[in-house]
Amino acid sequence: MDELLRVKYLWQGGNLVELENAKVHILTPTFFWGTNVFEGIRGYWNKEKGELYLFRIDDHFQRLTESAKMMRIDLPYPPEQFFQYARDLITRNGFREDIHMVQVVYLDGIGHPRWFATSPTNMFLAAFPRGRTFDVENGVKATISSWKRTADNVVPPRIKCGSNYQNCRLAGLQAMLDGYDAVIMLNELGKVSEGTGYCIFMVRKNKLVTPPCTADLLESITSDTVIRICRDLLDLEVEQRDVDRTELYVAEEVFLCGSLAEITPVVSMDKIPIGMGYPGELTKKIQNAYFRITRGMDKRYASWTTPVYGNTER
Ligand code: PMP
Repeated sequence: MDELLRVKYLWQGGNLVELENAKVHILTPTFFWGTNVFEGIRGYWNKEKGELYLFRIDDHFQRLTESAKMMRIDLPYPPEQFFQYARDLITRNGFREDIHMVQVVYLDGIGHPRWFATSPTNMFLAAFPRGRTFDVENGVKATISSWKRTADNVVPPRIKCGSNYQNCRLAGLQAMLDGYDAVIMLNELGKVSEGTGYCIFMVRKNKLVTPPCTADLLESITSDTVIRICRDLLDLEVEQRDVDRTELYVAEEVFLCGSLAEITPVVSMDKIPIGMGYPGELTKKIQNAYFRITRGMDKRYASWTTPVYGNTER
C-alpha cells in the first residue's frame, strides 16, 4: 500500500491525471464483465548509469495489440506513441527505482452496458515502485492446482484480458490458503500449462524443457528471453513439448518465469523436493544472466532495454 501512496499521476486518455482524479464510467461493460486487454511491464533502475530501463517494451506493445485484435477491441491510441506516454508518466512521477507499469485498454462507454460492445475504448498507464515478487534466492514451494487452465477454445489464455484472470485467481487463492507460494495449472488434456502469472521450465535428464505455446498459456516474453539466453549465452536449446505433472516431481530443476516472477527457482512441488530441494545450478545461471540483461548491464541485449530518462530516438 505504501507504494500506492507514492503514485501521484496516471496517464489516462491522453493526459497525466492525479490518481484521485482518474475516472471510469461506472456503466462500462469492463466493470461488469472484465472486458479489457492489458500488459504488465517491469522497469529496472541502474544506479551506476542513473537510468531506468523498460524491459522488452516493444514486445509488450505488440502483445497488447494482438490481445486487442483477438478481443475485437480497437486500440484508442497508436502503438508508436505508447513509449512516449510511458516516459511522460514515469518522468512525471520521478521514479528512480525498480517499477512495474500496467497498461490497460478498456471500454469506457456511456449508456447502458452491453456485453458485446467493442467501443468506445480508452487507455490508462500506471507505474508503481516494485521489488521482487518472490524469494528468487531461496526459491518457492509450488503446487499443482485442481483448477484447470482454461482452454484456447473456451477463454483463451493467449489473450491478456482481465476476465481471463478469474481462473488464475481461483487457483492462486486456493494455493495460498493451502500454504504454497506458487501454483501451476494443468490444461484440459492434463498436461502442464502455466501458473497464475508465470510460465514454467524444468531440467529433466539434462535437458531444459518448457510446455509449447499451444498448451493453453500466455505467450510469455520472459520465456522467450530464457530461450534466447540459453541459445545465445549457454549454447543450450530449449525443448518445447508437452510436460506431464509427474515429470515435475522427478525433474532435476524447476523454475518459474514472468515479468513479475522474473526467474524464480521452485524447490518443491506438491511437497516433493525438486532435485536436492535447493535452487539448481542452471536456474541460477539463467537468473544471473536475466538480472544483468534487464538492468541494462549486458550491451548485447541493449535493444531490449529502453532507457526512460536518456534521449532515445523512437
Ligand atoms: N502467464 C500468465 C497467465 C501471466 O499473467 C504472465 C505475466 N504476464 C505470464 C504467463 C508471463 O508472461 P511475461 O513473461 O510476458 O510476463
